[in-house]
Amino acid sequence: MELYYEDPYLKSFTSKVNSVSYSNSHTFIVLERTAFFPGGGGQSFDTGIILGKKGGSAKVVETRMEKGQIIHICVLEGKIEPGEEVQCKLDWERRYELMRAHTAQHMFFQCLSRFFSNLYVVKDNIDVGRHALFIRSPEPLDFERIAEAEKLANQTIKEGRRVIVHWVKKEEAGKGDFRVKLDRIKGNEVRVVEIEGFDKSACSGVHVVNTNEIGFLTLTRLTHEGDEYTLEFEFGEKAKDFLLEIKKVCMDTCSILQTHPELLEKTAEKLKAENLMMQEQLKGLNEELLGRLEPTMKGEIKIYSKIFSGMDSKKLMEKAGELIKEENALIIFGNKGEKGFLIIAKNPEMSIDLKTIAEKAFKIIEGKWGGKEYFVSGAGKAEKLEEAIKSAIENVGDLHG
Ligand SMILES: [Zn+2]
Repeated sequence: MELYYEDPYLKSFTSKVNSVSYSNSHTFIVLERTAFFPGGGGQSFDTGIILGKKGGSAKVVETRMEKGQIIHICVLEGKIEPGEEVQCKLDWERRYELMRAHTAQHMFFQCLSRFFSNLYVVKDNIDVGRHALFIRSPEPLDFERIAEAEKLANQTIKEGRRVIVHWVKKEEAGKGDFRVKLDRIKGNEVRVVEIEGFDKSACSGVHVVNTNEIGFLTLTRLTHEGDEYTLEFEFGEKAKDFLLEIKKVCMDTCSILQTHPELLEKTAEKLKAENLMMQEQLKGLNEELLGRLEPTMKGEIKIYSKIFSGMDSKKLMEKAGELIKEENALIIFGNKGEKGFLIIAKNPEMSIDLKTIAEKAFKIIEGKWGGKEYFVSGAGKAEKLEEAIKSAIENVGDLHG
C-alpha cells in the first residue's frame, strides 16, 4: 500500500515485512505498506531507516518500484525477517525538499507558459540540491520574460493556492484540460495534480498541499542546446541566499567597472563594443606588421623573428609556412594572448637542428609543443616569450658554428 499518496506528510509508520532478500552488498526489503516514495515524475526516491523489533536496523539507501513492488534497498545491520513488524522513518529533510521542489516545478512551468507560447516539458529532474526543468521552446527564452514568470511564481506562492490530486479516467485525458504524456500512463486512471485554479498536470510524484510551502522561487541557471532549455531553480531560504550572492557579484562587478547596478548592462554592452572595435584595429595593425617583416642575417641564415599580440595564431602559422619557402629562412614567431604561442620553423633544406632549438625555447615558456622536423609550434607562458626567442636566436648561432 502506498502511504505517500494517502498522506504526503507521513514521516514515520509501522508495517509488516513481506519479504527480505539479499545481494552481495545490499538487502532488499518489501513491506506490506510504505511511505517511502520509489521515485517518479522526475522526482528522486526516498531514503530513511527501517528498525526491527529484535534489534535489526536497515538503512534505506534507495527505494525503487520493480514489477509493481516497492523495494527498499538497504544496508542491514542485525536481522530483519519476513512477518516481522517494523518501525520505519523517512529522511524527512530530503523528502520535504523534493516535495517542495516538485510542486515548484509544476508551478514554474505554468508561469513560464503564460509568457512564452508552445512550451513543451521534455522532462524534469527533482533531486536533492539540483532541481531542473527541461523545456523545448520554439522561441528563445529571454530573461525579460523569465523575470515576469518568476514574479508570477512568487505571487502564486504568496496566494497560498491549494494543491489537489484528482484521479481522471484515461479516456478523459488528452482533451487539453491538463498536461499529460498519454503513452506513459499505465493504468486506466490518470493521477492529475492541480494547483487550484492555476495549473493541472498528470504526475506520479509527491507534492506539498499548498504553494506557500515553497516560500520563494528563483531561477539559478539557464542553459540551452538549440531549442532545448535547461532551467535550474532554487526555492525557500536557499533561493534567497543565491540572490544575495548574485547581488554581491553584481556590486563587486560594478565596483570594478565603476558603475551602478542599473547601468551595468549598458556598461557591459559598451565595453563589448569597444573591445570588438579594438580587436578589429589590432587585427589591422598585425596584418600591417606581418606585411612589413624584415629578416636579420646571422651568417647565411635569414632570421624572421617577432612577437605579436592578439594575432590570429592560424594566420601566423600560414605566414611562417610562406616564409620558410625562402632559402636559408628561419622563423621564430611569438604571439601573446591568454597564453604565449610560439612557432619555430625553417626552410626544410637547411641543416640546422630545429628540434634542439625548440626543446630549449619551449622549456623556457614551460610549454607543450609538436609538429614536423622543420616546423614546430606550441603554447606556454606568455611572459616568457621574449626570453625564449632570445635563446632560440642565440642557439642558432651556436649550432651553426
Ligand atoms: Zn509532479
